[in-house]
Amino acid sequence: MKLKRRILITAGPTREYLDPVRYLSNDSSGRMGFALAEAAVHLGFAATLIAGPVARPTPHGAKRIDVVTAREMRTAVRKHARQADVVIMAAAVADYRPARPARHKIKKGTGRLTVVLEENPDILAELGHRKESHQMLVGFALETGNLERNARAKLEKKNCDWIVANFATAINARSSRALLLSKDGKRIPLPRLPKEELAVVILSHVLS
Ligand code: C5P
Repeated sequence: MKLKRRILITAGPTREYLDPVRYLSNDSSGRMGFALAEAAVHLGFAATLIAGPVARPTPHGAKRIDVVTAREMRTAVRKHARQADVVIMAAAVADYRPARPARHKIKKGTGRLTVVLEENPDILAELGHRKESHQMLVGFALETGNLERNARAKLEKKNCDWIVANFATAINARSSRALLLSKDGKRIPLPRLPKEELAVVILSHVLS
């Protein structure tokens, strides 16, 4: 019996807590990553989906692991990445977290509050720097300007095989227009498509 190929996909935002009830996060809906997991299952992959806090049904046939913070996502990714033939980091991971989250709810009344943030680990860059030769690594780049230049710089810096570049308007939207860039110089502009269709097209290029 032939073993199924394994794919690991991250999706959704992360939350970085300021105090027990407040957090920094972003508008990511998880739609893109969940659609990729669903499409991968249809292609016969054993799919593991590491999801930040989003209320979406788990794609049928995928194994879902829920996480909240970037550091939890990193632990889960590290645990599952080695066995994966393909890793797609579609999650909108928070770049920073409060350096000293308060143990109790922060009280108002001080007029001004300064929060010190520290950088989260870059999970994709870590994977890229210890990538196994058989492994395909795909990142996402969401930009507000200089889309192609910034995306190509990330592709190289994080040692990805592919990067899916799209504008910040893609966040929390049902459809998106993307530009696929590969390490070996491929440049594939994709039309605006519902994310479910975009997922199928992205996988077909990345796996071809
Ligand atoms: O550098 P930037 O955040 O734009 O890179 C986006 C890509 O890197 C996405 O694939 C995202 O999932 C991944 N990322 C990560 N860890 C971070 C920040 C981003 O894996 N701390």
